Amino acid sequence: MDLKYSAQHESFRKEVRAFLSAHASRFPKPFGVNRPTPEALAWQALLMEHGYAARTIPKEYGGFGAEGDILESRIIAEEFSRARAPWGLVNQGISMLVPTLLEMGSDEQKQRWIAPTLRGEVIWCQGYSEPGAGSDLASLTTRAVDDGPDFIINGQKIWTTTAHGADMMFALVKTESNAPNKYLGISYLILSMKTPGIEIRPLKTMTDASEFNEVFFKDVRVPKSQLVGERGQGWSVSNATLKHERGMLGDPDASMARMNSILELMRNERIDGECVIDMPVFRQRAMRLQARVMAMRYHGMRLISANASGEDNLLARLIVKLQTCELNYQLSALAVDVMGELGLLLPDSAEVRSHGTWPRRNMFDIGMIIGGGTAQIQKNIIAERGLGLPREPKLALGLTKE
Ligand SMILES: Cc1cc2nc3c(=O)[nH]c(=O)nc-3n(C[C@H](O)[C@H](O)[C@H](O)COP(=O)(O)OP(=O)(O)OC[C@H]3O[C@@H](n4cnc5c(N)ncnc54)[C@H](O)[C@@H]3O)c2cc1C
Repeated sequence: MDLKYSAQHESFRKEVRAFLSAHASRFPKPFGVNRPTPEALAWQALLMEHGYAARTIPKEYGGFGAEGDILESRIIAEEFSRARAPWGLVNQGISMLVPTLLEMGSDEQKQRWIAPTLRGEVIWCQGYSEPGAGSDLASLTTRAVDDGPDFIINGQKIWTTTAHGADMMFALVKTESNAPNKYLGISYLILSMKTPGIEIRPLKTMTDASEFNEVFFKDVRVPKSQLVGERGQGWSVSNATLKHERGMLGDPDASMARMNSILELMRNERIDGECVIDMPVFRQRAMRLQARVMAMRYHGMRLISANASGEDNLLARLIVKLQTCELNYQLSALAVDVMGELGLLLPDSAEVRSHGTWPRRNMFDIGMIIGGGTAQIQKNIIAERGLGLPREPKLALGLTKE
């Protein structure tokens, strides 16, 4: 592993640093899972103009069109983390749909959807999970029946994050009733959330917000031109999307930024007059987590190094989502504890600390261990694909369903 950057890369780092210090007053405030605020959209536009967002997306689709240079991307991530600058928009459209369309979309789909999605003008939701199909996603039953130029969809999705605020959905539906196995009967469709026959019902979570929804389809008509990839090949299209989702959920720089905020919190908070950062129990807990954050960061560099030399380290890639999501949960749990009982207060309380963001984040982080594939499923994948252990017996799967 070579950790040194070239002079050219160091000069690029200076450029990024100068950009961030010149525009610090334009950093937008967090907007959670709501639609991006006007400030966030303006920040996104500025980042795209300078190539700090949509960097390697071709110009013809609204991106910056830079050559993929993994070390430059790394430097951008490090500098944004150091300056605690907000990233460009991170949402399901940008992180999951755009790479999928680039890989598998038709030219018309790329032209129509990528640029407005990157600018944050079109918000997407992911319609995969169903009441009887989460970990075993291929068992989904929402059906799309062939009707001339259209498909007609009937069924239900669940846990659809931001469906209530989304313009569009990318969805998995069953189109082939005679497929030889459940994986080959699925197609990947994109559709407007305004299409007649779609009903969205919010699901309230323990964060007191309704980030999730149930989405019901009753005779929803979608043109066949909105199929991504081949009919019946939606499983492989969806795997491309999931690969990007898992990447989105495992960012060591975001964990490092979080760690740094917690250390600052520990310097500011006191318990019985003593500064938290001087208390051995908290110090030890923070140092353990800091070591894990550093390990994930160097793990990320190891992946970059392997990638640059053309090696594929499957096992090393597979552990990222599992490790980072669990680590983030433990980090936000530490932040809550550092603030003592006041750390549990939500924003509407007079005594609230840190605007009440940490307890909400902590509750949300539990969900992140589940979303995009649960920790148990990730461990199965690591065992089977990464370590080459025997596959999970199909009989056991059948029994758990009954
Ligand atoms: C924060 C969050 C956001 C989400 N956003 C979306 C979204 O936008 N769109 C969308 O489509 N879905 C979304 N989901 C749904 C998510 O993908 C599913 O919750 C997840 O895949 C698990 O499915 P399930 O909830 O049906 O649980 P189940 O699959 O029923 O699993 C229940 C439990 O059994 C375990 N289990 C199941 N099978 C196995 C096995 N073979 N081996 C070992 N253990 C097993 C699981 O790990 C879990 O602990 C989101 C979920 C969360 C928490």
